[in-house]
Amino acid sequence: METKAFQAESKKLLDMMIHSIYTHKEIFLRELISNASDAIDKLYFRSLTDEGVGMNRDEFFIRIDLDKEARTITITDNGIGMTAEELENNLGTIASSGSLKFKTDNKLGEDQQIIGQFGVGFYSAFMVAKRVTVYSKAFGQDEAYQWASEGVEGYTIQKCDKAEHGTCIVLELMDDSEEENYSESLEQYRIQALVKRYSDYIRFPIQMEVSHRKLKDGTEDEFETEVTLDTLNSMVPLWRKNRSELTDDDYNTFYQEKFVDYMPPMAYKHVHNEGMISYDALLYIPSKAPFDFYSRDYEKGLQLYTNGVLIMEKCGDLLPDHYSFVRGLVDSEDLSLNISREMLQHDRQLKLIAKSIEKTIHSQLTSMLKSDRDKYEQFFEAFGLQLKYGVYSEYGVHKNELQDLLLFRSSRGEKPITLAEYVDNMPEAQKEIYYASGPSIERIQALPQTEAVLAKGYEILYFLDNVDEFAVKTMMSYKDKQFKSVSANDIDLDTEEEKKALEEKKEANKDMFETMCGALDGKVQRVTISSRLKSHPVCLTTEGDLTLEMEKVLNAMPTDNKVQAKLVLEINPEHPVFDRLTALHGTDEEKLQKYSKLLFNQALLIEGMPVEDPVAFSNLICELM
Ligand code: ADP
Repeated sequence: METKAFQAESKKLLDMMIHSIYTHKEIFLRELISNASDAIDKLYFRSLTDEGVGMNRDEFFIRIDLDKEARTITITDNGIGMTAEELENNLGTIASSGSLKFKTDNKLGEDQQIIGQFGVGFYSAFMVAKRVTVYSKAFGQDEAYQWASEGVEGYTIQKCDKAEHGTCIVLELMDDSEEENYSESLEQYRIQALVKRYSDYIRFPIQMEVSHRKLKDGTEDEFETEVTLDTLNSMVPLWRKNRSELTDDDYNTFYQEKFVDYMPPMAYKHVHNEGMISYDALLYIPSKAPFDFYSRDYEKGLQLYTNGVLIMEKCGDLLPDHYSFVRGLVDSEDLSLNISREMLQHDRQLKLIAKSIEKTIHSQLTSMLKSDRDKYEQFFEAFGLQLKYGVYSEYGVHKNELQDLLLFRSSRGEKPITLAEYVDNMPEAQKEIYYASGPSIERIQALPQTEAVLAKGYEILYFLDNVDEFAVKTMMSYKDKQFKSVSANDIDLDTEEEKKALEEKKEANKDMFETMCGALDGKVQRVTISSRLKSHPVCLTTEGDLTLEMEKVLNAMPTDNKVQAKLVLEINPEHPVFDRLTALHGTDEEKLQKYSKLLFNQALLIEGMPVEDPVAFSNLICELM
């Protein structure tokens, strides 16, 4: 008989399993039971719409047999089974294994971590077995096939006899060694415990012959052993159970196994909704963003069940984008079963459920923010960016829902604050909400434009993410207070007298500013006097909606449409440089022009923008020195 080689990727994964020093080798049972359950689901699902299947729900089963002598564990199901081709494709090649992809992408060496984090599927059998034989007969086919393998060397496929449709997997356990007691898996108490622990909610009976010791009839001290076929699992899915029956641990373990996360969730919510639309849902917020969360590969969605039958692995329509980090499932009786994916999108019931879930998540986050600030800050660290995108996207339709969930760092201190806290903290005279953008807190604090605002005793929000400024532009205002960049040209901090004095100074130096503006060759709209500077000589401000930070973000995008902020060069009249400029005006216009260029480039540097012509700039400095 021909031995076929495993596809290269599969071989790698298999090798990893065989040589695994992973301490939870026991998960092989969970993996094989899940596969059996999936196979039954497929057939059961078909039976609901196709009378030809001729199976009732209570006829499906998964069965475990232990044979101590032969050292085998056998797992049998009467699910959909596999054809020879499917055996070949499903067990000879691992096409879509998330674990392997992750491993090769990230060059993570630790198999421990990988196995803990991801479902590893069928190959996990090789963590405990030296030989695995799969007998399978696909539903509706006459022929049955046998797949067998002793590991990386390859596998064989041949015809075999099997009366019933479904799959039967025989594991021949490895020999016990000093480190590892494989024989333990042949003990019934061990299997009972593992099924309870990992597979209790599987909705089909997992049966095993169990021997019970009991008193012999009519005696008081004589025992006999009775063997019965027991169902080891309770079959009630966790989400159908009463909240009062369940502990945090139950919810967390369920999450970690179902959604393969090595960390317990940050928070969960168990919903039993009745009324307009009835459904059960389990919603989880992960502790950390998944490694691909902020990439295109990430797919949002909740598992969708109807009456306990999984009908969709990731139903994206159940979650708005801004809550895409939520994981979990929804089970509703109100959905019709034979609904197609396309129809599902337009399903009214589904829309109602989605609305209700969105509300639940919102109130969950709101109450976390109120009652457990530290935890909320941790949450916001991981997923806050997504909420900010949510404010900005779809022309701001979600802004009212999301604005009170946002946190920002500010000039007040280390702790991030909400917009409501900012507004509460505003002095009477302050009219607007001030913000400053930059790549880091240090850089923002060094911006000359912040000086005057801080001197007034006003707080400044620090915008560190690219999306921040776009988000507040979408919001426009919060509690009737406009957002204002400290670099905006029309910032309004002065009293009437101060304004008047400023106007007079502007008028008096009008000519000089015109000369300076001319020297800059259209790079700025105007040169003017500044009221916002205290110690710095110059700064750049912007006119209109587009700020320098936004210009940077937009121009970093891969499009041909480059934008340009409208710049204004502001000069500090209290700075000695200003006196020098006025002295040059009318006496040495050429030098005044050179100074203008120098000051403009300085202002660019302070903003974190490149100087336009570094060589010319450098020459200019030397010349003036
Ligand atoms: P996964 O279950 O994550 O797809 P596995 O390696 O566990 O990966 O299984 C690979 C495939 O083999 C399954 O997707 C399924 O199509 C098939 N399979 C495994 N076990 C069974 C079974 N008991 N009955 C029918 N098909 C099975």
